[in-house]
Amino acid sequence: MHIAFIAHDRKKEEMVNFVIAYEATFKGHQLYSTGTTGMRIMEQTELQIHRFMSGPLGGDQQIGAMVAKNELDLIIFLRDPLMAQPHEPDIIALLRLCDVQGIPVATNVATAELLVRALQRGDFAWRELVHKYKQGPE
Ligand code: PGA
Repeated sequence: MHIAFIAHDRKKEEMVNFVIAYEATFKGHQLYSTGTTGMRIMEQTELQIHRFMSGPLGGDQQIGAMVAKNELDLIIFLRDPLMAQPHEPDIIALLRLCDVQGIPVATNVATAELLVRALQRGDFAWRELVHKYKQGPE
């Protein structure tokens, strides 16, 4: 599966701890992240992550481009609900595209935990079919 991680600054520690807890599960998948989030995770784990630009500089939009093409299977996006973000429009656009494509996205660690357990059980197998029958632009 193709999995992306994004965490706002005050959520980065929570994200790193979450990924450490499930490192063995994430190891078998292709991982993506915004710039700083990915750097922090890679510093603390053995995981290899394709890092895009930092979120405020366009990283959310780069991940959004993958979402628009239905290329991501799971997004863990730990948002800071108590602080305004300069790139709020990019965040809204990313989440909107997840809804357009029906891509599972967790915006807090409780939901992230449920989705990762579903991933462990093989509940994401339907995403293989999405990739298989994905259509390009007509
Ligand atoms: P960052 O971006 O991982 O580069 O900090 C995350 C964000 O704030 O959207």
